Amino acid sequence: MNNDFRPTPTYSAACAPKGDSVILEVLALAARPDVISFAGGLPSPEGFPVKEIAKAAQWVLDNHAARALQYSACQGVPELREVIARRETEKGAPTSPDEVLVVSGSQQALDMMGRLFVDAGSKVLVESPTYMGALQAFALNSPKFVELPCDEEGLNPDLITREMVEGARFAYVMPTFQNPTGLTISEERRRKLAEKAREFDFWLVEDNPYGELWYEDEPAPSLRAFAPERTITLGTMSKVLAPGFRLGYILAPKHVLDACMELKQAMDLHTSTFTQLICARVLSEGLFKDHLPMVRALYRRQARAMLDAMEREMPQHPELSWTKPEGGMFLWMKLPKHIDAAELMKAVLATDVPVGFVPGFAFFANDPKPANYLRLSFVTVPVERINAGVKSLADTLRKFL
Ligand code: PMP
Repeated sequence: MNNDFRPTPTYSAACAPKGDSVILEVLALAARPDVISFAGGLPSPEGFPVKEIAKAAQWVLDNHAARALQYSACQGVPELREVIARRETEKGAPTSPDEVLVVSGSQQALDMMGRLFVDAGSKVLVESPTYMGALQAFALNSPKFVELPCDEEGLNPDLITREMVEGARFAYVMPTFQNPTGLTISEERRRKLAEKAREFDFWLVEDNPYGELWYEDEPAPSLRAFAPERTITLGTMSKVLAPGFRLGYILAPKHVLDACMELKQAMDLHTSTFTQLICARVLSEGLFKDHLPMVRALYRRQARAMLDAMEREMPQHPELSWTKPEGGMFLWMKLPKHIDAAELMKAVLATDVPVGFVPGFAFFANDPKPANYLRLSFVTVPVERINAGVKSLADTLRKFL
């Protein structure tokens, strides 16, 4: 047989490789070792509790090896669901362990939301901008995205109309330290969003990976505290513990959780028993109390360095602005209308101090996608490189103004 012969399988319409991902090209450029990259969304490895994890893993193997290495129930191990439920309850959203389903990262939960609720053409409400990975996950089910009204304070529920949400399967929202903007919606807006959801009868899928990463003040309670009967909350251990665990969870009313569980069972039976038990042990040993303040302080320092550098270096221009996040990992910058962030990135990558970031178009659901935004992430970049990178970005930007 001719070794060059490469037959092509027939891909499904939904999952056929697109092969034209501008965003993948951009991220590949930003990954060059000489580039100061504000592109990645990785949590800082300095925040990984390595010793605690090693100790917990050993404890699990010493005490529960047969269980840890065996199949387990789809819903997740009880001790992990218990710590998660207790934590949510403490933070203002009363939750029982029955309302927790452990999943393999919140990205799996997003995949599940798409499969469970979306038929081809169904309406899905999203913020504008929103998390790129959620758009990708939902897109596998060919929804019709409708963008919700957002302003400098995030999602604005006052502007949601009945017509906008009519027939929607759910609204996907990130009320706290949003990706990509870093914005947090106020308690009043949360309350109003819950009221709108009731009035117009739609469900909320709340994604909350960053809620624990506040710098000064704890944010308002999650949406589940305001509309528990119609909110599904997605959480993750990726930012408080380590993303390599691939541990996330879904919180929902029992009847909806049962539907999620039936789906999860078909997808992968259950999430790794071993990592669930390690995580449960680390958390029950007081990780939230002892470890999280250190992670928050680290993120606060990084955010402060980024914001100070932006203040110092960026040119004054009436159409140039950026968000001032109070937690999380991202800052969102608005450029004058005529500047394309992807062009700006090409230009700054060609300088002596090349800088990477994510051009903002990737975070919008529908065309025409605004080109004049960019996302900067700052948690893994050493402070002196933040300073040098922001200066280089500002110098290149001046040439575009
Ligand atoms: N949701 C949002 C908003 C995110 O930013 C991320 C990770 N970048 C995820 C979900 C997925 O995280 P994980 O699968 O690690 O829980």
